[in-house]
Amino acid sequence: MNFDMKGLSAEHQGKRLRIEFTDGEICEADLLMLSTCHEHADCCGITFDLLRTNRPEKHQHASPAAVWSEIEFVKSFEVLETEAE
Ligand SMILES: [Zn+2]
Repeated sequence: MNFDMKGLSAEHQGKRLRIEFTDGEICEADLLMLSTCHEHADCCGITFDLLRTNRPEKHQHASPAAVWSEIEFVKSFEVLETEAE
């Protein structure tokens, strides 16, 4: 089974993204890793370093480094920056 990765792919790893989540959070983040699994929806997701967010209270008790989100909570994203030449 292939789950909807919302357009994210391995090529986005290492890039700076603006991510909108289904709960209304919009953040800027460096995508560290995209995790995919063909069996479990909750194994599919992103690990990212959080740079800024409109919902800081959501992350108040967590480290801003290597934050995990299941892909189902990702609503949309855009690439802010590509790697330097
Ligand atoms: Zn799995």
